[in-house]
Amino acid sequence: MDYEVAVVGGGVIGLAVARAAARAGLRTVVLERESCGAGASGAAAGMLAPLAEAHRGPFLDWCVAALRLMSAEAPVIEGESGVDLELRGGMVHLVPEEELAERLERAATAGLPLRRLTQADLRELAPGVSSGDLAALWSPDEAVLRPSRLVIGLRQAAERAGAEVREGEAVLGLVEGQNAVRGVRTSRGEVAADHVVVAAGAWTDAVAPGAGIRPVHGVLVELEPELAPFRPAVFGPDGYAVPRADGRLWWGATQREIGFATNVPAEDLAVLIARAVARVPALGDARFLRAWSGLRPAAPDRQPLVGPDLTRSGLWWAAGHFRNGILLSLLTGEMVAAGLLGRTPPADPRPFLPARLTAVGR
Ligand SMILES: Cc1cc2nc3c(=O)[nH]c(=O)nc-3n(C[C@H](O)[C@H](O)[C@H](O)COP(=O)(O)OP(=O)(O)OC[C@H]3O[C@@H](n4cnc5c(N)ncnc54)[C@H](O)[C@@H]3O)c2cc1C
Repeated sequence: MDYEVAVVGGGVIGLAVARAAARAGLRTVVLERESCGAGASGAAAGMLAPLAEAHRGPFLDWCVAALRLMSAEAPVIEGESGVDLELRGGMVHLVPEEELAERLERAATAGLPLRRLTQADLRELAPGVSSGDLAALWSPDEAVLRPSRLVIGLRQAAERAGAEVREGEAVLGLVEGQNAVRGVRTSRGEVAADHVVVAAGAWTDAVAPGAGIRPVHGVLVELEPELAPFRPAVFGPDGYAVPRADGRLWWGATQREIGFATNVPAEDLAVLIARAVARVPALGDARFLRAWSGLRPAAPDRQPLVGPDLTRSGLWWAAGHFRNGILLSLLTGEMVAAGLLGRTPPADPRPFLPARLTAVGR
């Protein structure tokens, strides 16, 4: 069978592209060499937090559009798939006093509410969290979800819309001819497609060289406190706490460039646990349950790469989402589908077009 769209990679980005393309009526296949969510998407914390890092300009615009889209679409995906995404709204930010004005200004630019909390407010919202000399802020519109659920939900929603998802099938290279991509070579043969969307996360360069995407290793730990923890996620300069619906708490994350290794270094574990206990002293008595790592896909400028290749027709990029791929997943899916269909995209595509990276764009 020939496809209109072949998506390489079954992470949240590839699956969101597949769902959007299939819902638009395009014959779509996802080719995933392991199982869906085997890469960064299955390892992420699931923060949907445009204000958490020093985002500004077009990247902040994309993150805010992505948050709004996820908040609106999560119930739709839950309905399509029957999967509870564990979306929980509200986030506490802890920031040094000298960064307070800038953070409030950023929120105002983004159109996201953000207000300062008193110590009493913080005790009520996030009991047990010690803010030290940091200012506490409340961001009601930011949220978290459980990324492994988003993977399953997107996969089922994509399949329900008509997409085919093939696991255990590795893409070995592109099938090219006359400046056009016509499909992919896989571990099981050739798959013909009018359009190929490369969404292979940290492994993108092995599928289609040129973007310079590199893996950035990150570790998270899961703890089980004696008493169910506070409800909102807490983001600070020393890391973030994500309380889960099952009463457990995730603390993350480290960030290192150590190639494609996915081990959990003992030092990372020690650092994360020490920071978690310093911020939430009661966690000293919590049970350590597990730790895991994932590889964030990072382009040289740490910005996403979303849109058509300029020199090879039929080739599309949806990669390099680095620390925000869960947040940006649905927006990326809609951006690529709009491009494929020649429709007006939901956000300005220009800042993140592959053309900015000379190796893939010209
Ligand atoms: C510790 C950690 C915490 C994070 N926390 C957050 C967070 O709180 N919020 C947020 O928004 N983002 C977060 N991220 C970032 C987010 O996880 C990534 O940006 C996102 O998952 C990238 O999705 P992806 O689909 O591009 O890549 P991946 O999920 O890595 O998917 C790529 C897929 O391609 C497959 N593949 C690779 N090569 C081939 C091939 N040749 N053929 C077929 N398939 C192939 C892989 O098996 C993989 O399943 C975090 C990441 C980490 C590691």
